[in-house]
Amino acid sequence: MLEDKPLNFWERLYLPEIFRGLWITARHFCRNLSLHALHSLGLARDKEAAVTILYPEERRVSPLSSRTRHRLTKRADGTPKCVACMLCATACPADCIFIEAAEHPDPAVEKFPLRFDIDMSKCVFCGFCVEACPKDAIRMDTGIVEIAFHDRRDMVFDINFLLKEEAVIPHGDQPAQVSVAPVVR
Ligand code: SF4
Ligand code: SF4
Repeated sequence: MLEDKPLNFWERLYLPEIFRGLWITARHFCRNLSLHALHSLGLARDKEAAVTILYPEERRVSPLSSRTRHRLTKRADGTPKCVACMLCATACPADCIFIEAAEHPDPAVEKFPLRFDIDMSKCVFCGFCVEACPKDAIRMDTGIVEIAFHDRRDMVFDINFLLKEEAVIPHGDQPAQVSVAPVVR
């Protein structure tokens, strides 16, 4: 745990800290400006300068191993692979998965999720739900990290939404083909 360190005399004056912050910002600004000017002349190419990403028009590609927004996987006939075993909901430390199970008409499938909600306002992106699933029915490979909405109620992703989500890389494709699409909900 972090200790509540008392401020020293100079910190209590605030002004030296404000100037220190301004100095750090100005130093980075001048360094980046100079390096970008040198790069445009073909010089100092070995030294990296900070690049501003024009979010949200431009997006960083998430590493393939990163845990991003959830999706539910489907069988060949388009139905969810999920068998409503509740293991993901049990493993979830944030208690943000709600499943309502129903009997499946196919006797080979015991149950299916009538309702499957994930409350993203509570999710901590731990990935325990994915690890707990015995059917590979839930994954966090959409490449989408945005979960900001105006209303908390919009942050509850239901089964229809989770089934619509796609993997950032279809299985079998090469990582070089990654492109992150804008978020559409
Ligand atoms: S990632 Fe973690 S917190 Fe989020 S739904 Fe899965 S188990 Fe729960
Ligand atoms: S997503 Fe997987 S772990 Fe969760 S209820 Fe469905 S089959 Fe079980």
